[in-house]
Amino acid sequence: MIAYLQQRKQLVPLSCIALAFMILFFMWFLAAKISAIAVIVDGETQFLTASRQEVLQTLSQMELDKEAQTNLDLELRNAVEFKQVFALPSRLVPAEQLEALLAQQVSFAAAAVSIRADNQTIVSLANEEEARQVLEQFKSEYGQVEEGEKLLYLAFEQQVKIVPDKVSPDQICSPEKAYELIKTGTLNPEKYVVQEGDNLWLIARRNDTYVDEIKKANNLTSENLQPGQELIVVKTKPLLTVVAQVEGEKVEAIPYETEVVVDASAPATVRVREPGSDGEKKITYQATKKNGVIAEREITSEQIIKHPVTRVLVKGKQVVQVASRGSSGISKGVLDWPVYGPISQYYRSGHPAIDITGKTGTSLRAADSGYVVSAGWSGGYGKCIVIDHGNGYSTRYAHCNSLNVSVGQKVSRGQVIATLGSTGRSTGPHCHFEVMYNGSPINPLNALK
Ligand SMILES: [Zn+2]
Repeated sequence: MIAYLQQRKQLVPLSCIALAFMILFFMWFLAAKISAIAVIVDGETQFLTASRQEVLQTLSQMELDKEAQTNLDLELRNAVEFKQVFALPSRLVPAEQLEALLAQQVSFAAAAVSIRADNQTIVSLANEEEARQVLEQFKSEYGQVEEGEKLLYLAFEQQVKIVPDKVSPDQICSPEKAYELIKTGTLNPEKYVVQEGDNLWLIARRNDTYVDEIKKANNLTSENLQPGQELIVVKTKPLLTVVAQVEGEKVEAIPYETEVVVDASAPATVRVREPGSDGEKKITYQATKKNGVIAEREITSEQIIKHPVTRVLVKGKQVVQVASRGSSGISKGVLDWPVYGPISQYYRSGHPAIDITGKTGTSLRAADSGYVVSAGWSGGYGKCIVIDHGNGYSTRYAHCNSLNVSVGQKVSRGQVIATLGSTGRSTGPHCHFEVMYNGSPINPLNALK
């Protein structure tokens, strides 16, 4: 019993001391920690500071500065919240450091509109009216009908919407820039690894772009390439497709056939016995065009006005042998001119073609017989045709106004394949005429008659 009492005597003072310590600690805590503000950006506590008012003032000053810079009505993109806490004074961010710190944590957005195609934002503009104008401009330019055509229906292939959006000021495009972007497609550069035997012209051709553009994109000063070298290639493909349903009536050429008579006793040249001439037919049709190129055409009636006259050539035997001579078989006179006219651009570095100028609508003729390997819209080339002549030669006709042939079709020399125009990256009506021999570009003037 005595022992127990003694123990109790000792226990009482011990708990008193503990209580005293706790009270002292609490008093010290209250004395050392002061009231502070935790700044919470998008749900996460970023830092502590003394005054909520100073944070708000700093944010609105930052917004005003940015608005003066961009000339746009901006708003804060982030949710900024505050919470009252107790903290040691040394942990508080001083007022003069608030701006630098906030600049890393918040950003400002402008009220804008975005054009969405199939639920994907393709471009943002300042307001709905500008967006509407850009779309209308694109629609009317890419949905143009030709003479004698009636427009039945015009729409975008994609589901196109203009929606209110909040975007960072540098994402807002001017109407001109937005139009350019929709027309040429995303300028997302793709990488191309140079293969043995490649040249810039071939790479440009495979990627629907120009030698000059590849040189510019890669800061190339010469055309010498090393296998394994990486190049940025820029493809052009419109972001929107305008679908136009048309009904039309026109007079079309019926191309003449070419008959070759081989005469062993004739001199070693090609002689024209009968020049031949195209016939004419009046057709009515319904067509679906995508960005100005016929995707489908159905002829609803046809009436022949004039029959074609067959072209007859007399070929000396040796000429045939010369034309199929093999590796160095580039021979003058193997190709016919697709159209006659002044040359505005000659074959040179960066331009592996000749540009033959003429009036829009003038017939373009196949330089030789062969198969159509490509016909349609081809980036900067606009409406374009490539014919493989089967003897090592192929020819390209770019910037056409309309195309009369389709892929896989057999064409004969002199057949009307297209009409001259100014589609794609072109500054005026001309035929950009390229000649390839065994896959490499050659000067067309070396092969033309
Ligand atoms: Zn050209």
